[in-house]
Amino acid sequence: QSTGTHDPTTTPTHCPYCALQCGMNLTPVEGGTVEVSERADFPVNRGALCGKGRTAAAVLAPGARLTSPLVRSGDGALVPAGWDEALDRIAGNLERTRARYGADALGVFGGGGLTNEKAYALGKFARVVLGTSQIDYNGRFCMSSAAAAGTRAFGLDRGLPFPLEDVPRTGCVILVGSNPAETMPPSLRYFTELRENGGTLIVVDPRRTKTAEQADLHLAPRPGTDLALALGMLHLVVAEGRVDEAYVEERTSGWEEARAAAMAHWPEHVERITGVSVPELREAVRLFCAPEAAMVLTARGPEQQAKGTDTVGAWINLCLATGRAGRPLSGYGCLTGQGNGQGGREHGQKADQLPGYRRLTDPAARRHVAGVWGVDPDSLPGPGRSAYELLDALGTDVRSLLVMGSNPVVSAPRAAHVEERLRSLDFLAVCDVVLSETAQLADVVLPVTQWAEETGTTTSLEGRVLLRRRALTPPDGVRGDLEVLHGLAGRLGVEKGFPTDPEEVFEELRRASAGGPADYSGIDYRRLAQENGVFWPCPAPPAPDGTGATDSATDSGVGTGTGTGTGTAPHPGTPRLFLDRFATDDGRARFVPVAHRPSAEEPDDEYPVLLTTGRVVSQYQSGAQTRRVAELNAAAPGPFVELHPRLAARLGAAEGDPLAVVSRRGRAVAPARITTGIRPDTVFMPFHWPGEGRANTLTNPALDPTSRMPEFKVCAVRVETVTP
Ligand code: SF4
Repeated sequence: QSTGTHDPTTTPTHCPYCALQCGMNLTPVEGGTVEVSERADFPVNRGALCGKGRTAAAVLAPGARLTSPLVRSGDGALVPAGWDEALDRIAGNLERTRARYGADALGVFGGGGLTNEKAYALGKFARVVLGTSQIDYNGRFCMSSAAAAGTRAFGLDRGLPFPLEDVPRTGCVILVGSNPAETMPPSLRYFTELRENGGTLIVVDPRRTKTAEQADLHLAPRPGTDLALALGMLHLVVAEGRVDEAYVEERTSGWEEARAAAMAHWPEHVERITGVSVPELREAVRLFCAPEAAMVLTARGPEQQAKGTDTVGAWINLCLATGRAGRPLSGYGCLTGQGNGQGGREHGQKADQLPGYRRLTDPAARRHVAGVWGVDPDSLPGPGRSAYELLDALGTDVRSLLVMGSNPVVSAPRAAHVEERLRSLDFLAVCDVVLSETAQLADVVLPVTQWAEETGTTTSLEGRVLLRRRALTPPDGVRGDLEVLHGLAGRLGVEKGFPTDPEEVFEELRRASAGGPADYSGIDYRRLAQENGVFWPCPAPPAPDGTGATDSATDSGVGTGTGTGTGTAPHPGTPRLFLDRFATDDGRARFVPVAHRPSAEEPDDEYPVLLTTGRVVSQYQSGAQTRRVAELNAAAPGPFVELHPRLAARLGAAEGDPLAVVSRRGRAVAPARITTGIRPDTVFMPFHWPGEGRANTLTNPALDPTSRMPEFKVCAVRVETVTP
């Protein structure tokens, strides 16, 4: 553990980008920015940073970001304005929209990069100040299928129910649709150490990624068929007598139905669906079942599908049948993507949730949170539309929109349609650090502070709540998102309840989360600084009179495995979940029977090729920040179409030739990158760029029925050469 002390000129904090939330030190330097240096005391990355983290300070430089509000002038240009004018204009437009069309004509779109405090305040602002149900966030596009499947099976979702430090000590890891070598490079050491310790790594990915190159076994299924792959493995587990019958009997329910569903998927049938051979399937089962402990970790590959919840569910069933969940060094986990993708979904900016990861439809949850907010529970709106459905309703049911920390023009599926919907709004306000592609469409743009300029908490992919500290005074003209919400709330008639001090917001968040699944009530800024983060759930100790230190008893329903925080001693936090029981009513994990089904869009004569999308190491998400960093741009200057030599030969395309990729939703053009590391029936495009190479122009917004996750990972396209 850290002592919590540090050189007063150097501030220990965390990276602004991905969910690994690497520790880093910041030292102010001339030019209004900071120098990033190694911070060895944070155990997750032990000083290592990827190129994005190393160069994170570049976007802080005054010339690289917005430093004045912008308002749309009479001639259509965005021009600088004062803060009062900009906030008045937003409040006035929101008020007019609400008066004319009702509160649900107001939309709020948040982001998985917002701190816990901002996510909490934004959800409260939408429901208390605007009175709208129409709030969701871009994390819906990230890991919502894993969240839905985890909740369905275990009664609770936390990305990883165990710390990353367990990975090198297990016997086998199956990484499904995950490429940490590019998405979070410092985490790769956990998998390297796993192999050095004698464990095995299996990677399931249609592409031979940099991560797959390091695997003991690489399975390359056809995109959209990993559900069938998991079922085929489960079939073999049963057929080969590898089911952990005692575990299934003692700790699960629903096995017979799940077993029957798996037995309907014969390995030969699965081979035809997936392209993965029966011997490869058998080898995967052998490697997974041989050691005493093993894990399955998923990322966006299985999750970003119109059957993502069932796909993740199939992998969870495999873990349960083999006794791999809720046991030391074993289990299922999701590697979340965005910096606060985990915390962002716990505190109320998701369409169906209240702080503490409570369900908005739960009367007790509504009463508890309304009590903390000082409002009538009946005044709280019900669940709203999911992210894509909200964007699709812009300009019709939803007339005015506030965006905070998101760039859907690049990151949403069917992006040209989303862009057109944004243009059709009566009013659009965007809070961002740079003039993103979405901000360029706004009527008002508010320039906000960045990670190094503000204090706040995030929750990493491990469920570890972390403190980001302010290291730098923000430039003139810039304000924090909490100040924006405070200013707007006041203008809309709510004078209290929106403090600008993040610690004050966190104190309220603690009370709002108390007793919920994601209980933060035992966590405070002092502990976070001293302990290098605390894993939730972490309830406050009971008060001496036995009533609890907060206004609600805690019942997260999970075995902590680390102590219970009894008496008045602080709860130690919960690095490992489910060791004693799962968070279901009966404490058992639930098998859910699932079956293979085709993707929403399968290839045909007109669109004969599969498209899958993803990331590259030197860009982050929509690229709004990283595309402005010279070193990152030099390393990854633009989009490309990765394709197999056989497909390239059929098209007559050479390396670097411009290729048009056409789907039912649009056309994107980018240079060819030819490699044998991809299936011949599939092309891959990274999604970080706008313009003619925007991959999300092509992607399919078909939604998972449970998680409402769009099918980013698979759609049908045709590929054409482009005559210069
Ligand atoms: Fe930042 Fe993620 Fe890179 Fe770590 S791996 S430095 S958190 S972008």
